[in-house]
Amino acid sequence: MANSVITVDIATINKMKKHYENISGGALPPGAIFIAKGPTFTITAYRSGKVLFQGKEGSQEAQLWESQQNSPSTSSSSINKKSTQGAAITKYSPPNNISTLSIIGSDEVGTGDYFGPITVVATYVETKHIPLLKELGVKDSKGLTDEKICSIAKNIISIIPYSLLILHNEKYNDLQASGMTQGKMKAILHNRAIQHVLKKIEPTKPDGILIDQFAEPSTYYKHLQKEKTIVKDHVYFSTKAEGIHMAVAAASIIARYAFLKEMTKLSKECGMELPKGAGAQVDKAAAKVISKLGIQKLKQYTKYHFANTEKAKKLI
Ligand code: MG
Repeated sequence: MANSVITVDIATINKMKKHYENISGGALPPGAIFIAKGPTFTITAYRSGKVLFQGKEGSQEAQLWESQQNSPSTSSSSINKKSTQGAAITKYSPPNNISTLSIIGSDEVGTGDYFGPITVVATYVETKHIPLLKELGVKDSKGLTDEKICSIAKNIISIIPYSLLILHNEKYNDLQASGMTQGKMKAILHNRAIQHVLKKIEPTKPDGILIDQFAEPSTYYKHLQKEKTIVKDHVYFSTKAEGIHMAVAAASIIARYAFLKEMTKLSKECGMELPKGAGAQVDKAAAKVISKLGIQKLKQYTKYHFANTEKAKKLI
């Protein structure tokens, strides 16, 4: 896929820097502010405001930021707009009153972590449950410690209907090797988790479905072409959706809780603490797994195609 270049303001670059901090690092080319290497894309941001997206899913990742950057009246080529109205209004934009509605929300965890699975959760949060969830501490999981996440998750899973899907590393690596992108895996998992929740709450119908956006809606639906059932009615997409409706915040907390539990399990199996993220400490841990258990075993615990595998081999 072709490279994408977008031009953004410094505030957006700072947001990006924070967003990708787990996968940032490496030598910077002249004029660059940061480099982030994801499993399927590399991002280089420059002081000029230009941001280069490379790799299989680079352009998808670029779209995410582009849609945040441009207000409805501006084209993608307009430069240095202090934007902030967010994406253009489409049929996928959440209605203004969404935070008060009864909504199915979905989110995923683990996509940027070398060790451990991807966990995807959809939850149904009715209007009447919103105050209770607030009381139980449900909010953007990024601001919560692991301990807090576990205790909140344990409380809410008995209150709200949800579906948790775990894509274990072996299956992930098989799908990846067969040519499936991470974006497609995520789309399929979100769509299925949402279906499970719709089934669970029957005959009740939610007022809408809110997906924490990881791809443009058109890309999301392209990924689902071969799925038997595709949920399409009243589906809304938004980045940072955990701040828009409790259902996504709750989904994010349960997904993180499940991810943490899986990491504890895998760490036990490996006989060593497996770190999160995809940074240098992960390379070191991967090298340790290779020396202790062998390279074949590493596949069971990791998203093997990440650059960490090669870096770990070099460390040995
Ligand atoms: Mg998300």
